[in-house]
This record gives sequence, structure tokens and C-alpha cells, in this order.
Amino acid sequence: MRSLSWKLGGALLLIVVVSVGLMAYIVNLSTTREFRQYISHGNMMYIQSVENALSQFYSQGESWADLQETLGSMLRSRNDRLVVADSAGAIVGDTTREWLGKTVKEIGLGSGTPIIISGREVGKLYLASAGAGMGMGHMMGGGGMFVTPMLDTAEQDFLDRVNNSLWIAGLIAAVVALLAGLILTRQITRPVRALTRGARQVAGGDLGYRVNVKSRDELGDLAQSFNAMAYSLDRSEQARQRLVADIAHELRTPLTVIEGTIDGILDGVFEPDHEHLSSIKEQNALLTRLIGDLRDLSLAESGQLKLELASTNMVDLVRRKLSQSELEARGKNIQLKLNVAQEVPEVSVDSARMEQVIANLMTNAVRHTPVGGSITVSIATSDSGQQVEKPNLIISVADTGEGIAPEHLTNIFERFYRVDHSRARSEGGAGLGLGIVKQMVQAHGGKVWAESEPGKGSVFYVALPLAAV
Ligand code: ADP
Repeated sequence: MRSLSWKLGGALLLIVVVSVGLMAYIVNLSTTREFRQYISHGNMMYIQSVENALSQFYSQGESWADLQETLGSMLRSRNDRLVVADSAGAIVGDTTREWLGKTVKEIGLGSGTPIIISGREVGKLYLASAGAGMGMGHMMGGGGMFVTPMLDTAEQDFLDRVNNSLWIAGLIAAVVALLAGLILTRQITRPVRALTRGARQVAGGDLGYRVNVKSRDELGDLAQSFNAMAYSLDRSEQARQRLVADIAHELRTPLTVIEGTIDGILDGVFEPDHEHLSSIKEQNALLTRLIGDLRDLSLAESGQLKLELASTNMVDLVRRKLSQSELEARGKNIQLKLNVAQEVPEVSVDSARMEQVIANLMTNAVRHTPVGGSITVSIATSDSGQQVEKPNLIISVADTGEGIAPEHLTNIFERFYRVDHSRARSEGGAGLGLGIVKQMVQAHGGKVWAESEPGKGSVFYVALPLAAV
């Protein structure tokens, strides 16, 4: 596998080498050019000043006699050589004395800088940078005839030193850039490797695995999202396992009763009479209801619940449900009351589902209200409040039962959640009633919540949005 660090490192190396090399090359070229121009300019100025001095010298005596003695003092540096020829081309001055007495033609000097006094050419001046290897070809004149000078050793040395420094600086920059690149590459690849390891662990079923990446950049964000994903996977896996266990548990109880009764009848222990057959039928009905509830819950949770919405008068619907609970309530001497606000608009709901919601709340209220208590159902509209932001129709079911402790209050809407397992079982509750209420109301875009004061009673609220009418 070609790892990311190799790819990043390779790309970085290429960029550094190309850019530093290019930069060094360009700086080198321009430094040499600038430096040469600078030297040329210097030479021109020098030639001009020597030419002036020579003009003055000639003017004084109208001849080049004794020039040789003065010429030496005009030298700029030991590396320079000055040669002067008279108007006939005979060399009358040479700072090295080598060509004294010879002619320009003999030596083959090119066109030098003319020395002109009052429009008359009295001689010619030649300048050479007399460095090692310098020959006649490099003798220069001044003015327009100036040729690009070769650099002398000292100047060339200077340029070489500048170039060397440039290459060293380039090399240091390349090493620093490479080191920084390597550190950067490691910073990128380490979290990526950790994330890959994490993804493999989670895919292998280790849902408790978390990635340890602390960086505060996009990779840190990615690691956090990964951990959040693993956490939610872990939670839903646990919920799935709990659900399967709960369902198995809930189904086993009525099935055991049915099996026991049938075994008793077959073994001749029980008579196949009305009492035992009724018990079987009762458990069967319990199973059917349980399975129906589970199906509704799973449909609602997966958002597949089909609602047959129609404009409905909730007051009529609640009244119907109250009258169905009346028989049971009268058996416990519970008083049923209905409070209706004056103006209650119709809402768009699936009336069968809403009947299920009210029935579940009423069954709970009757079940948890002691003999002689009361249940009050209220219907009113609310613009907005603590629990709802939009205008809502609020239906509340208040009882004078034992109430619910705060630690249970937040959980009672979860499926299979029961405050008191043994008691609820004896009374037939599987802990699905409020879960169904919540899912049905949410499917309508509404909200449910409960308030309770232990020992005094509970109030369950259903809020249905009015805007959906
Ligand atoms: P169940 O079918 O077991 O009643 P629910 O989901 O309807 O399940 O209720 C969950 C739990 O909430 C129950 O175990 C019960 O203890 C508690 N509960 C529900 N309604 C009331 C109420 N009106 N008063 C007190 N406790 C209640």
C-alpha cells in the first residue's frame, strides 16, 4: 500500500527541491547581471575620469612627454592596466611598461577611448582589468564602444561567494521545509490511522471503541463525530437487545399461563369448563393486544405509521372515551369530570389513533387513582407556553392517584418502562401504553409530557398543533 505519508512527503520534497532550486537559479542569474552592470558602470566612470585627467595633462605641455610617471598615479587598483597611445598610434604610456615604444597596430588593440582637446584627437586611452588570463581581447575603450567586461578574480570571487551563500541558504530552507513537512505529515497521518483503526474495530463489532484524537482541527472534528456515531450505534444496539429481551419476557407470561391451563385440561387436572377456557381466551387477547401495540410502536418509530387525517372535534372524541371509562370508574367510585374551554377549534387528526391515545391515558388514570378519587379531563387552546411554541390544542388528564416520583417522570414514556414491575404486571400493564401515546402524538406533530406530585396525583398533557388544521 502506498501510504499517505509517502505521498505527502514525496510531493513536499518535489515542491521544496523545485522551488528552492528555481529560486536559487533566478537569484543567481539576476545577481550576476546586476553585479556586472554595476562593474561596467564603475569602469565607465573611471575611464571618463582618467580621460579628463589625461586631457588636462596634455593641455599643460601640448605633448605626452613624461606621461609614464603620472599615469601610475591614475590607477584605480592593482588589477587595472592603463595604456595611452598618441594620435599616431604609438604607445606613450603603459602602467606595466610592457608595450612602451610599440604601436597600437603591432599589438592589435581595438578602438580605445579618444582623448579630444578642442575638437582635435590627441590620443587614445585603453583600460584593461588585468586579472589572470586577461588578454588583449579584453582591452576596453570608453563611451559607446565599451564592451561587456570580463570580471576580474576578486570580483568573480565575490560573485562566487554570493552564489555559494545562496545555495547554502536554499539548502537550509529545503531542510527546514522538509522537517516542517515531515512533522505536518505525521500530524495528519496519525489521526487518520487512529480513525482507520477505530472504524475497523467498530465494523468488527467492538461498539465500545473510541478514537483518541485531541487535535482541534477538521480531523479532531471528524474523530469526535466518529465517536458520537460509535456511541449512538452502541446505544441503539443495547436498546435493540433490551427490546428483544423485553418482548420475549412479555410474551412468555401469557404463553406460560395458556400452556399451563391446556396441560392441566389434557392431564385431567382442570375441567375444560367456562372458567379455564375464559382464562385462555383472556391471555390470548392480552397477547393479541401486545403484538398490536408492538406493531403500532415500531411503525410509529420508523415513521411508517399511516395517518388518516380528518378535521375532528376533539371534545366529542374525548366525551366518547370518557363514557367508555365510566363503568370502570364507577366500580372504584371515581368521579369523572370534563372541563372544556368555550372556543375549541377542530384539529386535523387520525381519530382512531387519537382515541387510542385518550383511552391509554384514561386506563392509566383509572388504574392509578384510588377508590373515591377523581379524574379531570380538560380541553383548551394555548398560544404558547413553557412546553409549546406554536398555538396548540391542549388536552390534559389529571388524576388524584399516587403520583409519579421525579426520577421516573422522564422515563415513563419509554417503551416497557414501568415504575413498579410486580404491581403493573398484576394489573396487566406491559409498559407500552405511554410509549404508544408519545409516538402517536408525535406522528401528529404534537407533544406529550407529564407533571406529578407524588402522593397527590399526576397530570398528563397532550398538545396538538392548531396550524395543522
Ligand atoms: P403500563 O401499560 O404498564 O401502564 P404505561 O406505559 O402506560 O405502561 O405506563 C408506564 C408507567 O407509568 C407505569 O408503570 C406506571 O407506573 C406509570 N404511570 C402511568 N400513568 C400513571 C398515572 N396516571 N399515575 C401514576 N403512574 C402512572
